Amino acid sequence: MEFTAPELWSQVLSSARTGIPEQSYRTWLAGSTAVGLSDHELIVEAPSAFHVEWVEDKYGSLLGEIVEKVLGRPLDLTFRCSAPSAAAQLPALEVAEPMPTTAPPFSGSGPRSQGATGFAAERVSDPKRAANLNDRYSFDRFVVGANNQLAAAACKAVGERPAKNYNPLFLYGGVGLGKTHLMHAIGHLVLERNPSAQVAYVTTERFMNELVNAIQQGTTPAFRRRFRMIDLLLVDDVHFLAQKESTQEEFFHTFNDLVDNNRQVVISADKSPSDLEGMEERLRSRLGWGLVADIHATSYELRLGIVESKAERIGVDIPGKVKEFLAHRITSNVRELEGALNRVVAHATLVGREISLETCHEVLHDILRANDRRVTIEEIQKKVAEHFNIRITDMHSARRARAIARPRQVAMYLAKQLTARSLPEIGRKFGGRDHTTVMHAVKKIEELRQSDVSFCEDVDLLRRMLEG
Ligand code: ADP
Ligand code: MG
Repeated sequence: MEFTAPELWSQVLSSARTGIPEQSYRTWLAGSTAVGLSDHELIVEAPSAFHVEWVEDKYGSLLGEIVEKVLGRPLDLTFRCSAPSAAAQLPALEVAEPMPTTAPPFSGSGPRSQGATGFAAERVSDPKRAANLNDRYSFDRFVVGANNQLAAAACKAVGERPAKNYNPLFLYGGVGLGKTHLMHAIGHLVLERNPSAQVAYVTTERFMNELVNAIQQGTTPAFRRRFRMIDLLLVDDVHFLAQKESTQEEFFHTFNDLVDNNRQVVISADKSPSDLEGMEERLRSRLGWGLVADIHATSYELRLGIVESKAERIGVDIPGKVKEFLAHRITSNVRELEGALNRVVAHATLVGREISLETCHEVLHDILRANDRRVTIEEIQKKVAEHFNIRITDMHSARRARAIARPRQVAMYLAKQLTARSLPEIGRKFGGRDHTTVMHAVKKIEELRQSDVSFCEDVDLLRRMLEG
């Protein structure tokens, strides 16, 4: 069956609509029209350059799949903007935007105008709700460790004296390490000290959505005015702006306006400003002008601290062994660690069983597996050789001098403990030795660990280093 472009597109859209949130559908897809169809290409027009960027990035592959399903063969999907340029759709920036006539930001005096708060469209009397802040994410509940010390201190400083020393504050780090938590905490602190401050937390996605809605409804000036009233703007996950040039442009202006007018801006991303690919150079450099603070991967101590603080707060008695086990094994990020703890507690409560190591293994097997760090035999050999100061080739050699044979046995033992390899496989990696040699090595090291404390400590140290 052959389709016209609009027929094909309308089928694709109705199928896409079932798979994405209605609000997103309306914002991003509803206004698109197909304007051309050839053997190999479907051309779709969207109302603005924002739409084009966003739809390509977020929905491009989904739409491509649906097209292929409907048509029975793949097609190139080309999006283009129906207006001549995005700029043509945006009213010119009002350069001489009047500054609010109230007290300067953060002076703590004078009521601020109501209703311009944050992003909530409705008037909300609770400033925290208006600002979009989650009560759980406070400084009280944030456990500070070596990995996040700088970031936490910077956030506190900004919360206490916004727009003074670190503006913008740029936080970056991997998923689930507390960036969002810290941003909310700054918001809470600012509001505590100055309840009339205008605080807004937005995700980058939300910023884009609001912007596009404003463009569609012709309310861009109001959108911009609303932004300029904000004293503390927290923008989360700006790496999502990558490749979205038009949105970057708008964001850049907003950002400059605020910083230039002595309002505090806090940004988070998964990379440092200089590593943010797909970002315009001037934006990248501007983002790094204030303080850049990174959050590193968690340490065992921090994870244990988090488990302890959380257990205490929910008032559940958790055996020390279980806390240590969780902190030791769930290393990916804090979000997953919290999830694991919740699951264990929920299980114990529902089934009425005590929390123990067995229940942990049982309830968490999938998480535990995913968190198993895959140490390779090669890594083990390298680390062990370095540690005992022998050559890595001696791991494979036939030399039997104790100074060499013992480290080799340690490496075999660790290979057995830390990898899922079988004895014959391990033997092969150690110069083609027999599996009985590996078995012997494992037994020997176990014995030595029992009888020689310092040897045991040595092996444990190696093990910890390898486990990361
Ligand atoms: P990110 O934004 O970096 O992806 P989040 O801030 O969403 O991470 O953190 C994920 C979860 O872990 C949240 O529930 C947060 O409260 C918690 N969390 C992260 N780091 C800490 C910490 N240092 N102390 C207490 N909770 C933390
Ligand atoms: Mg986050």
